[in-house]
Amino acid sequence: MSKRVTIDALADWLKARDDFVLLGHVAPDGDAAGCCLGACLALRALGKRAVACLPGGVPLLYAGLPGAGEALDIEQVSPGMLPFEPKAALALDVSELPRLGEAGQALFEACPERAALDHHATNPGFGDVCALDGEAAAAGEMVVELIDALGVQLTREMGECLFVAISTDCGQFSYSNTRPETFRAAARCVEAGIDVAAITERLYRTRTVGRTKLLGLTLAGLELSPDGKLAWARLTEDMLREAGAIREDKEGIVNYLQEMSGVRISVLAEERGEETKFSLRTRAPLNVARDVAVPLGGGGHDCAAGLTLAMPLEPALAKVLAVAREAIEKV
Ligand code: AMP
Ligand code: MN
Ligand code: MN
Repeated sequence: MSKRVTIDALADWLKARDDFVLLGHVAPDGDAAGCCLGACLALRALGKRAVACLPGGVPLLYAGLPGAGEALDIEQVSPGMLPFEPKAALALDVSELPRLGEAGQALFEACPERAALDHHATNPGFGDVCALDGEAAAAGEMVVELIDALGVQLTREMGECLFVAISTDCGQFSYSNTRPETFRAAARCVEAGIDVAAITERLYRTRTVGRTKLLGLTLAGLELSPDGKLAWARLTEDMLREAGAIREDKEGIVNYLQEMSGVRISVLAEERGEETKFSLRTRAPLNVARDVAVPLGGGGHDCAAGLTLAMPLEPALAKVLAVAREAIEKV
């Protein structure tokens, strides 16, 4: 059984331990990567040993963040290859154990002591202790609080990682999850001396040719239901090759579907070998986590959720569209 704890209690738990491995979810986003890197710097500032491990490593988009060069790809390192034997694990921005990926979950479970910090409302609670805040816009918001509770000074390096975590998860302070605490946490990062213009230029106003071409190919195949309320598109492995893109380049494409006027639910189906990964978006009062992702074995937030089906793209897409259609008709 996992014990729900406050951020202060999690800070005490961390202070009493050493030799940490910090873990994020598969296909790490800005929040997962930023939290692992930021928390790693904070624990080191306390004199602890800590290493950040992400499935697939730090995505290219975030490779310039402080400490990214020392982070490990959990899918490439065996536990014996870690710089020290971890005694405690901390999962950040991970909504449930399987989201750590196979290797991450194995490492987490092999650690003698385990904790989690997360902001997904669907999180059932895992680890020995678990700090959850379903209202936080990003796990990064909670990590800023954690750093204060640890009594560590928030440095520019930590601030850079956590600003990226926060601003990516709240759509640059525009989604409905953005709350006063989101701005306050971000303001702390700015006060720590980060270069907001340089960071946001890299994140939001620069994209590779491959990413741009993949966006074009994906949107060219866009489909809509006759009433225009359901939008979907396919992203195949052939399209990745044709665009010269990498997996992480699909990030954000689903938003273009959701941003079309009249669309209530949008679905991006991504071919991954024999499996298909789905990104789902909606707007309140609809809830894609509860009504589409969770019933099909996935999870996420009310308006942004995902799932993976062990089926080829076409039958998997038909299944997800049927459930999404029902969710639209329900309201
Ligand atoms: P994405 O569409 O990949 O950006 O994911 C949107 C949200 O859904 C993220 O916050 C993820 O935490 C969540 N999510 C995505 N895929 C899954 C999955 N297979 N299982 C549970 N949650 C997921
Ligand atoms: Mn995330
Ligand atoms: Mn998050």
